[in-house]
Formats: sequence, structure tokens, C-alpha cells
Amino acid sequence: MMEFMRAFPDDAACLDWLFRQRHSEDGSHAFCPKCDRERKFHRVKDRPAYDCDTCGYHLHPTAGTIFHKSPTSLQLWFYAMYLMASTRCGISAKQLERELGVTYKTAWRMFNLIRNEVMADDTEGPLSGSVEADETWHGGKLRESDKRRIAREGGGPRNGPHVKKRETVFAVVERGGRVVAMHVPSRYGHTLRKNLLQHVEPGATVYTDDYVGYNGIDFTYTHHRINHSGRIYADGHVHTQTIEGFFSLFKNGVRGVYHSVSAKWLQGYLNEYTWRYNRRDNGRAMFLDLIEASASRAR
Ligand SMILES: [Zn+2]
Repeated sequence: MMEFMRAFPDDAACLDWLFRQRHSEDGSHAFCPKCDRERKFHRVKDRPAYDCDTCGYHLHPTAGTIFHKSPTSLQLWFYAMYLMASTRCGISAKQLERELGVTYKTAWRMFNLIRNEVMADDTEGPLSGSVEADETWHGGKLRESDKRRIAREGGGPRNGPHVKKRETVFAVVERGGRVVAMHVPSRYGHTLRKNLLQHVEPGATVYTDDYVGYNGIDFTYTHHRINHSGRIYADGHVHTQTIEGFFSLFKNGVRGVYHSVSAKWLQGYLNEYTWRYNRRDNGRAMFLDLIEASASRAR
């Protein structure tokens, strides 16, 4: 908190940071599109802009970012990202509402914009090396009565009439590396394979369980499967414990902090957990990474 206030004591400091990050190495010279050359710029009084000393052209450091024209102050946006980066398991909109003194609706909207716009598409390039792939349900647990009904109707644990009620999350993780997690429309094999091909480099070693949906990837990858339906969970290096670890982190987090997440916002929460997982050894840089992404992922 003190650390944050020293770096960003007010809105002007945040705007200046964005100006330097996006337009000006030294905080005073920037490229002026009207003069078509580098010029000296000054902060415009009472406006979130800088103007060219020569021609008066206005540069808006927030243009294209999630902060642009937001009624919420820039410092509160930065502080929201600081809080998100400082907690290990996330922070709820309710907590943000209290911390920032904004309405619940505003806190909720800020969080979703940060999750959906800033934390999206986190990995650069496909995963490679030793990669585990798995899919999981998101949504309520099946009741015993549902399980019996599904069994009666001939459905297995992965197909059957309950499939529509729950969402599917598919994820791939490099052992000791990055994770990519996505909300997918179904757990049909073609959906899983399509996403696997999109996020994992051909030639990688891929570990999955024995679900039939992973049939047919052996042409592209060195494929090892663990026989989960035979109640075997690890056989030497053949296991999917890394990805299961990520799933349980996500599920515990959602249960503990957010209570429930609807299908509409699921990808945003996956983005947040992915973001944190991919920086797990890098605690101090997380906030800087986040504000840098907010500046560079301008729309
Ligand atoms: Zn100019």
C-alpha cells in the first residue's frame, strides 16, 4: 500500500506514467503527428492530455485503453490492479467496493474489464516441451440422484443429459511453465483437439487421461495417456497432476473468493488465474506487468 502510494500518489502521477509508457521515454518529448516530428509536450491544465509546445496538438495517454473516458479516477484503476496483483487467490468486487469506496456496480465493471481486456491472451506463442492437457466441469456438483438418473439413461460421466447444465473448461500446461485455460463450448473431441492444436506446438509431448476425446492427436504429438478410468493416477512421468493442480487452484479460488461464476464471466476468471499462475515465481513484477499490459493492449 505505501509502496503503491509512493509510486502513484495521485491521478497526475498515473497519467504521467501512461504518457511515458506509451508516448515519451523522458516524460517530455513525444512524436507529434501534426508536426510529423518529435516535439516537446506539456501537461494540459485540468485535462487528461498533453499538448505539443509547437502546434498545440493534444495527446491523450488513455486513448484506446480501458481507462479512457472512465468516470472512475485513474488512480483508482491503478489501485484496483495493484490489489488484484497483490493477492494470491484473488479479490472480490465486494472487497474492491470497500477498499476503493466505489459502488459495487463500478467495482464489478472494473474487475471484468481488467480480466477480459488486460489479462486476456497472456501467453506468447504456443506451449512446447512436456505438456499436460485436461478438461473439467465448471458449475455445480452433480447430486447423487442426478448421477443415478444419468447412469439409468445410459450417459457416462462425460456425456449425458447433464452436459448442458455445466460449462467445460479446457486447459493445457507446460510442466514447470505456462498455462492456457479456456472456456469451450463442449467437451467433444473435435473441440478439445482444435484448441490443443491451436495452443501446443506440433512435436510436443502431450499427457492426457484416457478420455476418447483425445484420440487422434498421436499424429501430431508424442502422446502418453494415463488410465484414470482404471483408477491409476500416475505412472512414472505419465500423469496429469500439474493441470489438475491448476484446476483445483482455480476451483478453490472461485469457491472461496467469488462463490460462483456464471458462464458469461467464466473466461475472465480463467484469465485472472492464468495470469497469476504464469507469474507465480515473480510476485513483485505482477503489478508492473499488469499496468504495462493495460497500456500496451489498447484497443
Ligand atoms: Zn505539434
